[in-house]
Amino acid sequence: DPRLKAISESIRVVPHFPKPGIMFNDITTLLLHPGVFKDAVDIFVDRYRHMTISAVAEARGFIFGPAIALAIGAKFIPLRKPKKLPGEVISEKYVLEYGTDCLEMHVGAVQPEERVIVIDDLVATGGTLCAAIRLLERAGAEVVECACLIGLPKFKGYCRLNGKPVYVLVESR
Ligand code: IMP
Repeated sequence: DPRLKAISESIRVVPHFPKPGIMFNDITTLLLHPGVFKDAVDIFVDRYRHMTISAVAEARGFIFGPAIALAIGAKFIPLRKPKKLPGEVISEKYVLEYGTDCLEMHVGAVQPEERVIVIDDLVATGGTLCAAIRLLERAGAEVVECACLIGLPKFKGYCRLNGKPVYVLVESR
């Protein structure tokens, strides 16, 4: 797909952010190019529009998920850090390199048997996506696929996540 080259080139890699030794992939530079931003959304939309997806879920930063959800006629489910959602929630802890984190979802956001895709900007270890999958599956939803703008091949965590396929647009260091 010729659009992938511009997508890859518009992501800024920032060395030693947020701490020494980490190469941070900054997608905000991609968002400054409306044509490239639209191409990225369109690739996901073309892939999912005919897969009878009724919900799109995304954890923490909600940049790509809402645009994709609107375009395919699906609802959007925000998965948030603790204490952000005001209603009754279910939560899932997940392991980070140092310590743990947690994602929450409103009870009733998704109905049993609904077909859902999970979006994230970047997959590294896959821990965040796995927590998102567990939340949705506890509510009875069917997670059809995870979709990420960037995959870090050195982690290889994203080949299969809880048995779910992961679709990655571009790979980065
Ligand atoms: P994982 O859980 O190890 O797969 O890490 C992926 C999560 O961390 C995603 O929610 C990303 O938004 C975030 N993340 C990790 N590294 C980066 C990066 O280089 N750029 C942007 N987000 C990152």
